Amino acid sequence: MDSYFSQEQNALRERVAKFAKEVLEPKAAEIDENGFDIDHYRKVMEAGFVGVPVSKADGGEGMGTVGRCILLEEISRVCPSTALTYLVGGMALYGSLANDELKEKYYYPWVNGKIIACFALTEPGAGSDVSSVKTTAVRDGDEYVINGYKSQATNGSCADVVNVYAITDPSVKVSRGMSMICVPKGTPGMIAKPTKMATLRGADVSEIEFKDCRVPVTNLVGEENKGYKYAMGGIAGGRINAAACSIGIGIHAVEAAAEYAKTRVQFGKPIIENQAISFKLAEMKARIEAAKALVYKAADMIDKADPDAGTFASMAKIEATQAAQFCADNGLQIFGGDGCRADCVAQRIYRDAHAARIYDGTTEILKLVVGRTV
Ligand SMILES: Cc1cc2nc3c(=O)[nH]c(=O)nc-3n(C[C@H](O)[C@H](O)[C@H](O)COP(=O)(O)OP(=O)(O)OC[C@H]3O[C@@H](n4cnc5c(N)ncnc54)[C@H](O)[C@@H]3O)c2cc1C
Repeated sequence: MDSYFSQEQNALRERVAKFAKEVLEPKAAEIDENGFDIDHYRKVMEAGFVGVPVSKADGGEGMGTVGRCILLEEISRVCPSTALTYLVGGMALYGSLANDELKEKYYYPWVNGKIIACFALTEPGAGSDVSSVKTTAVRDGDEYVINGYKSQATNGSCADVVNVYAITDPSVKVSRGMSMICVPKGTPGMIAKPTKMATLRGADVSEIEFKDCRVPVTNLVGEENKGYKYAMGGIAGGRINAAACSIGIGIHAVEAAAEYAKTRVQFGKPIIENQAISFKLAEMKARIEAAKALVYKAADMIDKADPDAGTFASMAKIEATQAAQFCADNGLQIFGGDGCRADCVAQRIYRDAHAARIYDGTTEILKLVVGRTV
């Protein structure tokens, strides 16, 4: 598919793939076993990858959504936990929404790989149904006082800045009374606790409690009570990221299973010489490549501000996540009993493939979104 991409995009892929192989891959199993390692993630920040999709005007490389997808695909191909750490945070919204002070303090440092961010929207009672958010931010003089509980917030314990969604006008529907507020690390009343995950275990997914947590009203991102729109925009924008990660995971599944099938000998020959195995691999490869084509078409549409880009990104996420799951499942089967060992790469791929079907819009919710357009 390389001929589909520009020279610059292919050069980016080469740069990220080399970094992923040399720096991320040797630690991927270890962070899956022991959990998130901030020093490991700092290497991604120091390599200048955060700014790759950001516009040149904002200090980035201007490689847009296609650039971000290439990056996420290549990182996910070796370490999907690191890709998740990269893709969340809600900071892209700062580019167009944040005031000058917030941009100086957090946006540009984020673009330059100096800080990590978290996007805290989900609550125990508000997952797919964002209109059930209960966390509140009550104005008291020049401050907001935040109270509530957020769950499954990626980077929740390690982030330098948490972008929390809270109700600022309880007299109207959540869609018209929620705001996005920036809470810096160490603010009294914000208490985060990592969640023990079964998937993407090398990422920091946390629960965050807000107890009379005070921040200045100038920490409001964008306009008051417009947070629902921003959150939906952020999630919709994130769909293509999850899709790109799934492509990396699916390709890894094919590569790992093919490698194993070439070396595992049964009945006097490598198992890949059985059509049952090579057909499985062929179908895995075909499905993930078909999904990849859709992902990059959708990414290109986003960069060109195509009015149908949102629908295509949703379709790309449905297809890419399912293709990755298909590859992970069939790949694991090819590993036989070895696939049931805790130290087998295929079982990590299998666990990691699942998560993208959930975050940034579950497959079922995306089918509702796409179904409305058919
Ligand atoms: C690895 C990971 C990272 C995450 N990171 C973040 C983060 O950084 N910030 C954040 O705010 N959140 C994050 N989340 C949370 C994620 O956004 C939610 O898990 C997701 O929105 C789904 O919500 P839920 O888990 O409550 O599932 P639910 O909404 O309870 O859904 C449960 C099941 O019911 C289905 N369902 C629900 N409603 C319908 C319907 N109307 N029709 C048909 N089916 C339906 C769903 O598709 C799903 O299969 C993360 C989750 C994961 C797994």
